[in-house]
This record gives sequence, C-alpha cells and structure tokens, in this order.
Amino acid sequence: KAGGRNRVVMFEPAMNELLQSRHRIEADLREALRRTDQISVAFQPLVEGRSGRVDGAEALVRWRHPTLGQVSPAQFVPIAEGTGLIESLGEVVLRQACIMGARWPGMTIAVNISPTQLRNPKFPDRVFALLDETGMRPDDLELEITEGILIEDGQVASESLRRFRTAGIKIALDDFGTGYSSLNYLKRYAVDRIKIDRSFVSQLAPDVASTAIVQAMITLAHALGIKTTAEGVETAEQMSALRAMGCDTYQGYLLSAPLSPADVEAVFNRDRNLHLHREAR
Ligand code: C2E
Ligand code: MG
Ligand code: MG
Ligand code: MG
Repeated sequence: KAGGRNRVVMFEPAMNELLQSRHRIEADLREALRRTDQISVAFQPLVEGRSGRVDGAEALVRWRHPTLGQVSPAQFVPIAEGTGLIESLGEVVLRQACIMGARWPGMTIAVNISPTQLRNPKFPDRVFALLDETGMRPDDLELEITEGILIEDGQVASESLRRFRTAGIKIALDDFGTGYSSLNYLKRYAVDRIKIDRSFVSQLAPDVASTAIVQAMITLAHALGIKTTAEGVETAEQMSALRAMGCDTYQGYLLSAPLSPADVEAVFNRDRNLHLHREAR
C-alpha cells in the first residue's frame, strides 16, 4: 500500500514534466512552421547495390529550435502527428523534396508520410499539385509509409495508395519487420519496396537469427517483385553480408549521413557515383 502511494508521488513530477515539454514542443513547433528559418530538410543518399551509384535520397525533416538546438524528429514528429501540425510540417517536407526531385530527374526522392496525412482524402491532390507546381516526375517520388496504416485497412488510405500507384508514384514500407509484418499486406497493397529496419541490419553478421530473418525478407520480397533497401548500414561487414543476400539498395552512415540540400546535390553531381568503402578495409 505504502509502496503504491509512493509510486504515485514519484511519477507525478515526471508526468508533469513530460506533459509540459509536449506542450512546449507543440507551441514552439507551431511557431517554427510560421517562420522559414527553423525547419529544414536533410537528404540521405540511397546507394544502389549493383552499380554502387547514388540513385536517390530520403528527405528527413530537421528542426533547429532557437534555444534547444536540433530536436530529433523521433521526438517532434509524433507530437506533430497528435496535434494536426503534421499536415503543414508534411507539406513543407514534400515541397522541398519535390523541388529537389525536379532538379534531379532520374533520382528517387523518398518522403516519409505519416498515417494522419494518408487518412486525409485530400492528400493525393496535394501531392499531385506539388508535382505539377515543381515539375517533378511522379515516378521519381517514393512515399514511405508504415505497416500500421495498412493494418487499419481504411478506405481512404487504400484508395489514395491506388491513386498514387496509378500516377507512377512508388510506395515503400518503412521500418519493415518492426510492426505487424503481415506478409499478406505485401501482396494485397502491392508495395514497390520494403525498407528493412535498422534493428535487423545492426545485428547482422554476429547474430545468426537476424541474418536468417534478413535473408528471408529479401528472398520473399524478390519473389513478390518487391525491391529491398537496408536501413542504418554502418559497417563494411553489414554491407558485405547484405550484398551476399542480394539486397538492392543501401542507406546508412557507412555510405553517407543525411546531408544539406547543397551537399546532397554535390553528391548527386559527382557523376552520381558515391565512393563506396572497400570491403577489405
Ligand atoms: P526513418 O524514416 O526510418 O529514417 C531513418 C532514420 O535513421 C533517420 O533518423 C536517419 O538519420 C537515421 N539513420 C540513417 N542512417 C543511419 C545509421 O547508419 N545509423 C543510425 N543509427 N541511424 C541512421 P531521423 O532523421 O532522426 O528520423 C527519425 C524518424 O523520424 C524517421 O525514421 C521517420 O520515421 C521520422 N521522420 C523523419 N523525417 C520525417 C518527415 O519529414 N515526416 C514524417 N512523417 N516523419 C519523419
Ligand atoms: Mg523513412
Ligand atoms: Mg526507415
Ligand atoms: Mg527505421
């Protein structure tokens, strides 16, 4: 009894702090979205395995808070999602991504799309308008969604996905393996790509089970005509294990960190060739 009461007393301040920081983040993010100097988009190169060439980049939102400095999207994206701010945040990212995509036809630009965005029936029209406005080719755009939205089985989301695919926009399942991973969804929604979550990639080589799981994911994806990207590739060992398994595309610090727009353009420009670390190193 006494212990239970104690626990309540211990939890309250922490909860208040958490709520306060959520409110603060929400208020400050609202302000940041009214300005142009805090929110930016970084681009992390995607490297095609067979050629070793950079064939695109993933757009990742960045927020430089005036006093807190860089705030991680893992922290503010969920808050933005819970408050409706994700719609304007998502629009900022999508616009920057489309501007980049229009400048580099043939490069795939991947954009993270939150479930809230996808549940809005007007979302596809916004995407098509931005493509029109910027001149980006629809088949250069890849929307990264998570398994959760497919599980919901919402009419709106599946109709939107159908419209995207008809327009030639690609669909990738992000963080694959961390959610429900019903293999059924892969078939039913005809996704173009799975992104194998970093938690599997980071266990590769030393861990036999992870290696078997990643191999199974790649084999299954390929049997269904789906491409594979490995997230969070950090070591040459992981890279060569993935190569041996026939993974299509690599992303991670080994290849490149997320870069400023100017820096990623320099990488795209460098004859579209990112110097891969030699496996012998
Ligand atoms: P994600 O879509 O799975 O993105 C990959 C995350 O892994 C990025 O973190 C990236 O910087 C990080 N990463 C890349 N390579 C490595 C590596 O080798 N090692 C490690 N440890 N990490 C690596 P970031 O930028 O902090 O984003 C975190 C998450 O926030 C994203 O995960 C995505 O779910 C979400 N997010 C980011 N930008 C957006 C956005 O514009 N819209 C939405 N809805 N979500 C976003
Ligand atoms: Mg992603
Ligand atoms: Mg991911
Ligand atoms: Mg991930």
